[in-house]
Amino acid sequence: MMVTVNENYLLLKSSYIFSEINRRVEEFQTRNPDADIIRMGIGDVTRPLPGAVVEAFHRAVDEMAGEETFRGYGPEQGYPFLREAIAENDYASRGVDVTPDEIFISDGAKCDTGNIQEIFGLDNVVAVTDPVYPVYVESNVMAGRTGPMDESGRYEGLVYLPCTEENDFIPPLPEEKVDLIYLCYPNNPTGTALTHKQLAEWVDYARDAGSIILFDAAYEAYIQEDNIPHSIYEIEGAREVAVEFRSFSKNAGFTGTRCAFTVVPEELEVPDSEGKMHALKDLWNRRQTTKFNGVSYPVQRAAEAVYTPEGQREIRESIDYYMENAKIIRESLEKAGLRYYGGVNAPYIWIRTPEGMDSWQFFDRLLNDAEVVGTPGVGFGPSGEGYFRLTAFNSLKNTVRAMERLSELSF
Ligand code: PLP
Repeated sequence: MMVTVNENYLLLKSSYIFSEINRRVEEFQTRNPDADIIRMGIGDVTRPLPGAVVEAFHRAVDEMAGEETFRGYGPEQGYPFLREAIAENDYASRGVDVTPDEIFISDGAKCDTGNIQEIFGLDNVVAVTDPVYPVYVESNVMAGRTGPMDESGRYEGLVYLPCTEENDFIPPLPEEKVDLIYLCYPNNPTGTALTHKQLAEWVDYARDAGSIILFDAAYEAYIQEDNIPHSIYEIEGAREVAVEFRSFSKNAGFTGTRCAFTVVPEELEVPDSEGKMHALKDLWNRRQTTKFNGVSYPVQRAAEAVYTPEGQREIRESIDYYMENAKIIRESLEKAGLRYYGGVNAPYIWIRTPEGMDSWQFFDRLLNDAEVVGTPGVGFGPSGEGYFRLTAFNSLKNTVRAMERLSELSF
């Protein structure tokens, strides 16, 4: 007998997109050593942690240094002080009913959106929007819910919901019955959002079909318009059909500090093969207590400080800063005569590449003629072909410089 690998992992296509971007940029830089390349493709924040967060972080680290105040393992689900602050500020203040014990603190929405599929049977049919944040797809490939990737770039067995210009980036309800549906709004990569009414159609679908929506709201803080829900639980009936993922990464700069949370409402139940119902909250709790030992105390205190008046003021300032970049990007694209979407309720701007130019040709054009790097849309799924992502996560200065260069190009 030999050790064998989990062959599902062998179905994964290598993340060609970012290595190919780097290869092309390096080659360009070698040919043009004086080139002043501006990277507009990065999905990471650039502004530092808010002062209120840093202060709370320091104070908690000092507590860890005192014999009386030291803390060892905390609750796997997170400290009550943070779960209560979230329930109050993110939900109750908006009239949404989520209790602290339905909130599970974690070290990232990436892990949670990747791990959640473990508590569902392997025979569930999974639907994803296309283009998509790759974690939803690849975690299901690893688990064995798909076949190999076909020539069109789709994994067999997954249901892809194309979101393109033609349908205003509103995911179409599936023709076949699906069980698990990943929705991410405001969306990465398209930067578009769903209105209450549009999201309500999905909640109704899930209720009728007996499906579960896995709702990733990592970019919730960027919502500017009133008709966009901040939480799926603003939609009537969503508590029975939806799990929600949130993160401190993009609202408070925690990408390197790591803190997020997942909401699993009490009412959410799924049957076993004999029809007996099981609360998902209990299954997720079981999963987390077995495989996860909680987020560090100082990080949870730092996250708690996001909800102080000072913390709120500071995070608003950072978000406004990024959204000003987004506005500059949108105005420059307009001037350059390019069609674009997003950038209003999200830090991402999704450009339609000009007629006859695919995602990679547009990448090369921007790199060669403007020394600006973005992300070819096709890297996020087959329906991303013909699109290109720019992000507002940059300094104002670099955004302005990059857009001045882009405005001078004609398409
Ligand atoms: N969900 C989406 C849609 C994202 O784009 C990202 C990060 O880029 C994440 C989740 C990851 O969040 P976290 O930093 O909390 O793991």
